[in-house]
Amino acid sequence: MNIILLGPPGAGKGTQARILTENRGLVQLSTGDMLREAKDSGTEMGKLVAGVMARGELVTDDIVIGLIREKLADDGAGFIFDGFPRTLAQADALGDLLGELGQGLDAVIEMQVDDNALVQRITARSTCGSCGEVYNDITKPIPASGACGNCGGTEFKRRADDNEDSLKQRLMEYYKKTSPLIGYYYAKGKLSGVDGLGEIDAVAAEIAAVLDA
Ligand code: AMP
Repeated sequence: MNIILLGPPGAGKGTQARILTENRGLVQLSTGDMLREAKDSGTEMGKLVAGVMARGELVTDDIVIGLIREKLADDGAGFIFDGFPRTLAQADALGDLLGELGQGLDAVIEMQVDDNALVQRITARSTCGSCGEVYNDITKPIPASGACGNCGGTEFKRRADDNEDSLKQRLMEYYKKTSPLIGYYYAKGKLSGVDGLGEIDAVAAEIAAVLDA
């Protein structure tokens, strides 16, 4: 089963992708995580994308399509695409890559949220440095013990691009370049919308209902 989680920054794609990984054995492919890894480990490509990411702009299609191409080669139970595709060119490339493997897309889930909620969510979020569990100062605070509820890790990080300026640019990029994918996948009969503003478990249940339908 191959699924795309589509939605603006802060819609909860990463959180729901992790739940799907646990519940269904799917492999999460987050281009954002891959790019951050490249940046943190100081590869040539990482150096190239660091400024673009900090400004909240999109990295070139060639780079992210290349990253996805490498990962699709090691086939698993299926993939959850989190933060990819973000442009029509990326969507076409994904269709071609899956086609070459004799596979297709099973569902594209649009996580619907309003912009005010996004600003609040993004400026309040942090992740566990060990396992990547996502926390939010308001809706899902780090346990009072100071240890991650998932793995016990005690180091938490905030993303460098989770600030209001960068977020404005990221939202602009989303509306200009990524939101046309809603129509693209609707036309292909793949699109389902879920209310991304609900509690984490309620959103997960809505997604499960779509996938099991
Ligand atoms: P994310 O973690 O998905 O919010 O992505 C963080 C940043 O990585 C984005 O703001 C972009 O700069 C870059 N990025 C991630 N995925 C893509 C993609 N599919 N296409 C272009 N840039 C991307």
